[in-house]
Amino acid sequence: MEIGFIGIGVMGHAIVSHLQNAGHTLHVYNRTKAKADDLVARGAIWQETPQKVAAASEIIFTMVGYPTDVEEVYYGPVGIFQSDVSGKTLVDLTTSTPSLAEKIATTAKEKGAVSLDAPVSGGDLGAKNATLTIMVGGEEETFNQLCPLFEIIGKRYTLHGGPGKGQHTKMANQIMIAGTMTGMTEMLVYSKAAGLNQPKVIETLAGGSASNWSMENYGPRILKADYSPGFFVKHFIKDLKIALDEAEKMELDLPATRLAKELYEKLADKGFENEGTQALIKLWWD
Ligand code: NAP
Repeated sequence: MEIGFIGIGVMGHAIVSHLQNAGHTLHVYNRTKAKADDLVARGAIWQETPQKVAAASEIIFTMVGYPTDVEEVYYGPVGIFQSDVSGKTLVDLTTSTPSLAEKIATTAKEKGAVSLDAPVSGGDLGAKNATLTIMVGGEEETFNQLCPLFEIIGKRYTLHGGPGKGQHTKMANQIMIAGTMTGMTEMLVYSKAAGLNQPKVIETLAGGSASNWSMENYGPRILKADYSPGFFVKHFIKDLKIALDEAEKMELDLPATRLAKELYEKLADKGFENEGTQALIKLWWD
């Protein structure tokens, strides 16, 4: 199958590799071309613009950074919608806003195409190991058609309703992660101050009701002083802002999520916005 992929970052690079390994022809584009070099060396076809990716592909995936990047690759002067997309399927894997997902679905329909919002969870390791959880919004028929591709890159993929519902589900996920990241960080700060053996504490907690993904994946990285992304601080702030905006629209107050956003903004203000989210511990440890 001719598959387009726009956004060859931490996540996109790994996902493209899996699609290539499954025998598909990949048409790729990224703002920084060099990040696609090794994929091109393995047979992916470099296209000069998102418009050209769309022209060459039956299914077009996007996985860029922010909603503004999504706007640009779909609606920009050399964007996907500048191409004739009739009969094609557009799948945005970026964590973006529900309203933009709805807008893309409407434009796609006007142009005879279909679209899904399909943000993911599972981190850089989930992408590398093809074990992502994929949260999908869109039409059931389109979702069913995409399942064989989701199967290649993920281990759990679920339709949550019409356009935007995948992004809403991802926001629910990020609200949960806000709690696990701040909880893990304060747990490490406390256990160190108490003079405990921290690897042993992590191992023990993982067997009880405090067990969670953030601790098991990021706890050991913190103890090795590995703050590489992973999942960028700047992207988590973006996600928490979207979650809080959406909550406000529903007249909900989420004080713990708001506090997590403030802590991550403080971390970014200290110059750590391009580190992984596990760097939150730097607010306590030098
Ligand atoms: P990333 O490494 O920054 O990758 C994003 C890629 O998109 C970059 O290579 C970037 O180009 C490219 N890009 C951005 N705007 C573009 C544009 N207008 N045109 C073409 N290319 C563009 O980030 P990531 O970690 O892969 O995350 C991607 C998305 O997935 C984000 O929305 C993030 O919140 C979400 N996500 C990430 C994780 C994770 O653990 N990393 C987990 C779940 C969801 P450059 O190379 O020039 O920067």
